[in-house]
Amino acid sequence: MVKLRFDKNICYSCESVDCLVKCQYLQLNIETARIEKLKILKGEDTFILTECITCYACEEYCLKRNHPFFQIVELQEDKGLYTAPRPITHQQIKMTSPKGRFEVKQPLTKPAISLCVFPDMMKKIDGPLFQRGTSFLGGDFFCNLVFLHFAKMSIVKERLPKVIETISNHLKKNCLDELICFHDECYAGFTCWATAYEIPVPFKPIHLFHFLSQRLEALKSSVKTLNQKVAYQRPCSSRLIPETQYLTDKVFSLIGVERVQRKYDRDSSLCCGSILRMMGRDDLADDIQERNVSDMVNAGAKYCVFNCPMCYYTLSEKVSKEGILPVMMVDLCHYALTEGKT
Ligand code: SF4
Ligand code: SF4
Repeated sequence: MVKLRFDKNICYSCESVDCLVKCQYLQLNIETARIEKLKILKGEDTFILTECITCYACEEYCLKRNHPFFQIVELQEDKGLYTAPRPITHQQIKMTSPKGRFEVKQPLTKPAISLCVFPDMMKKIDGPLFQRGTSFLGGDFFCNLVFLHFAKMSIVKERLPKVIETISNHLKKNCLDELICFHDECYAGFTCWATAYEIPVPFKPIHLFHFLSQRLEALKSSVKTLNQKVAYQRPCSSRLIPETQYLTDKVFSLIGVERVQRKYDRDSSLCCGSILRMMGRDDLADDIQERNVSDMVNAGAKYCVFNCPMCYYTLSEKVSKEGILPVMMVDLCHYALTEGKT
């Protein structure tokens, strides 16, 4: 049985309860955090289960990597406390159903790239950054981690191990052992989630930013310094893989942009708001989007850089209205290689 590996005793002896105290949405003092954490550990009802906005950040706040958010999702599902209206949850499950199409007809060549559920990103896999790139399409190769937002860990448990196995078989068939993950969510699924649920991953997942930094270094003589101030919209899934965060700064440094200092970045990043709208929490979505974009403006950012297509779709118009150019990280790197100004 696919089961979450975490140690309750570590939580019982935890003095900081950082997972809840640092949460930017629940606003808990240490005493309340301790009381509510005990309820979670005992499988009891707590308002955390209904107030959590599923931003994933507590996975990063817990330095013991004891999976506080996965604990919450498991308990939400046990108690039938779905975060979104049931018709929306069921529609999402149906829409993303694998439907048995686990076949890739074309041969794969190195580098093989997974586009998660965003096949429209395929047009970005082009140019000097990606020579000979081959993409898995989305759909069946979708990591399904999005169901963490829907309190449906059972769907992730059912689907992700099969996706891992299928990808592994395709890679082996083509004598490959690495897969570049375009979306943080897939990388987090193949690393953080698979480790937490003790699922073997027989291939090496590569974070897109690791690949980009290697390519930019290889193409150094063609890279033009952009000399721009940028804000970074950190995606929720990157909270599962904090060990990759240095790569964002590395890519920015290689293309000569400055990541502006601002309140809502790094540990204090805010959710883009798309999930909140799905939950019907429009007031909170409006509030955090307004605070986030104002913060970018006040910090003097000229670009807002995204890696998650969903964050990009959600915030592009809002940042544009404030005179900030929305751009995917991969496009900014393409730009540094083609048209950037020295
Ligand atoms: S999940 Fe981590 S931070 Fe939260 S109580 Fe347990 S050990 Fe402490
Ligand atoms: S997932 Fe986000 S909102 Fe939910 S408890 Fe963790 S930090 Fe708070």
